[in-house]
Amino acid sequence: MSAAGNRGLAFALAGIAMLLAATLAAYRPPAPLGPDAPPGAFSAYRAEAILRDLVGNGIPHPIGSPAGARMRETIVKRLAALGYAPQLQSGFVCRGGVCGSPVNIVATLRGSTEDQDAVMLAAHYDSVPAGPGASDDGAAVATLLEIARILAARPPSPHPIVLLLTDGEEAGLLGASLFVQQHPLSKQVKAVVNLEARGTSGPSLMFETGTANTWLMRLYGSAIARPFSNSLYYVVYKRLPNDTDFSVFKTAAYQGFNFAFIGDVGRYHTPLDSVANASASSIQHQGDNALAALSALANSPTLHPAVAESVFFDGFARTLITWPAAFALPAALLTLALLLAEAVILLRKGAVTAREVMWGGMGMICMLALGTALCASLLALAVASGRVPPIGGASWISHPLPMHGAAAAIALLAAGGASAWLARRAGFWGFWMAATLLGAVLSVASAVVVPGASHVPLLWTVAAGLGVLPSTMSLMRQRAGSRWAADFAALFPTLVIFACVLPLVRFLYVALGSLAWPVSTLVLGLGAANLLPLLASASGRARQWVTATAALCAMCGAVLTLSLPTYSADWPERINVEYWLDADTGQSQFLVRCNSKRLPAALTAAAHFDPVPRPGFAGDGSPAFHAAAPKLELAAPELLPIARPAVESKAAGSATHLDLWLRSPRRAPEALVVFPASAHVADITLVTAAGPVRTKLNRLRSGATILDIVSLPAAGVELSVDAAGRTPVAVQVLDQSYDFPVEGSTLQRARPPNATSSQDGDLTVVHRTATLYPAADR
Ligand SMILES: [Zn+2]
Repeated sequence: MSAAGNRGLAFALAGIAMLLAATLAAYRPPAPLGPDAPPGAFSAYRAEAILRDLVGNGIPHPIGSPAGARMRETIVKRLAALGYAPQLQSGFVCRGGVCGSPVNIVATLRGSTEDQDAVMLAAHYDSVPAGPGASDDGAAVATLLEIARILAARPPSPHPIVLLLTDGEEAGLLGASLFVQQHPLSKQVKAVVNLEARGTSGPSLMFETGTANTWLMRLYGSAIARPFSNSLYYVVYKRLPNDTDFSVFKTAAYQGFNFAFIGDVGRYHTPLDSVANASASSIQHQGDNALAALSALANSPTLHPAVAESVFFDGFARTLITWPAAFALPAALLTLALLLAEAVILLRKGAVTAREVMWGGMGMICMLALGTALCASLLALAVASGRVPPIGGASWISHPLPMHGAAAAIALLAAGGASAWLARRAGFWGFWMAATLLGAVLSVASAVVVPGASHVPLLWTVAAGLGVLPSTMSLMRQRAGSRWAADFAALFPTLVIFACVLPLVRFLYVALGSLAWPVSTLVLGLGAANLLPLLASASGRARQWVTATAALCAMCGAVLTLSLPTYSADWPERINVEYWLDADTGQSQFLVRCNSKRLPAALTAAAHFDPVPRPGFAGDGSPAFHAAAPKLELAAPELLPIARPAVESKAAGSATHLDLWLRSPRRAPEALVVFPASAHVADITLVTAAGPVRTKLNRLRSGATILDIVSLPAAGVELSVDAAGRTPVAVQVLDQSYDFPVEGSTLQRARPPNATSSQDGDLTVVHRTATLYPAADR
């Protein structure tokens, strides 16, 4: 019994190992094409030359910056040299409480027909203030320019093509908002291909589509040579706080594709997002995808498809499999019916008893719960000991591999433990039926709640339903099923579910950070549930061997995770240093924000920091370590009432109307105004040359609301505010510049080599309180 019993388990483990190897091999971007690539093909070599020209100097170029203006000039020149007539679109725009004046670059290619419905290729040319944004999104700009060259040399496609380079994406999707709100071409565009990056390497993933995704995925499947997409990625992405220009395009009802390469996220939004760290393979993959997807849209007979949701996933980046989301529930119910019929046969013919199924279910639930809890506890220990940064922020570490191994080994360890405990009571079929019923329940539930995730349990249960057919047929012919037939019933669903989940698990960590580990243990546990019957029918020795090996791997992974350094020069901690001047008290402080929430020794030695971090201003969401700083003569931001009698008469009843002028005398590019919760300022109107612009403000956890203005004009901006009540309102006003005073250079230099600035980078902030009085009191 034992040798034959071990055979199924051995096949399953070998099969999983092969699927893992195939997954690692499949999801790699292609080799970049060189300078000798045919002129009609996308060449990463040529795109990289453009990228060096654009951001080779390594200077960040956020919205409104001189470096941004220089980059814009270079792009315009390059487009003009290719025969385009690029135009600039500028204007004041707000989105979600962030306002600014982006300058977009727009170029067009005429279509070959009368059809004026256009398709668009979009990328943002601004970067975060902290880094040069070579991959995010310089590589996409270079890709767009290389594609612009190819398109200009081709015969025109039926639909006109718009090339859009947006500004102010990092500040809050401002350029894209300006385009869809104000550009005349925005009404003509029906579909868009948006190019993004999360990190500096990795394959180009298509992670978001428009609403007509049945049509879109058919186009994608036929156009893309190396498809890499999964409707489950969008399910995950929707739950992350990230946003791209594509969100704005979707609100304008555009169809289309959102592509991003995802890898080396430690460099994302830091100075390490440099040309030297950009991956030519990623650029090649993204360029191939963008050109193919754009061409497919531009050649499509119609750009008015029916809105229909689909379920889709790629098979090892070789082929795309897709079906309408509406099929998910009938398919799940049909599979459930088949499985129930098979279960009845197995029960009636005495292959399994209800008691065994109950024990199997209990073992499986314990396996899933204990495995996930064990991995979560290990993560909690790593966070408590400071080896893994707090969850919520950037929680990636420099050496994640041991923890990847531990998370997987824990899933197998839990399966080994559960099978050893209940092998005799549940038996092969008790475990098999418990796992299959779980899959069927998940299949029906996901088809109803998240159809985009329904394909994994559906394929798993279909495989189980088909896999068990030989056994049930033998039983119906009054014969005992063979060991082979039984093994197949467990092996088939095991291999199918691992083929489905391994590519997902591979990208969970880059998407979620450390939270991906317990999630991976749970997801791999669902796969391991199918291993339980094979473990139960294996010999006690084989089970012990599997359990002991898994325990050893989990332990090694845990020990390595707890002893290896969290950060390295190549995967640095995010630490920003800031100079804050409180204009009300005249006091100055250095603020340090560390991703780890622990101040490195080198910084502790450089200044006398308070041991407990606290917010920079009331309502500031990220606490900082404070140290006294020398006082600098910096002018405070101004928020002054505008004397305008005609308007002041509007102030009536229980509300206060205020017309205000916001200005940074020291010409800081960004200003923030924080209204207290008691003032109930939910939205605000900005008075611009082109007319009033109304925006809803962001609400902080304290209930206070915040207005953020980037690329603040030197002259300032006019705000029109309605506050509740007739009492004076104390408003906090901050202006910030993306620089750091020389007086603090010792501190800046003390930032350890395994740390870097990120996002807004090192800052100088001047803040003050402005008390606003109702008109009659002034
Ligand atoms: Zn970006």
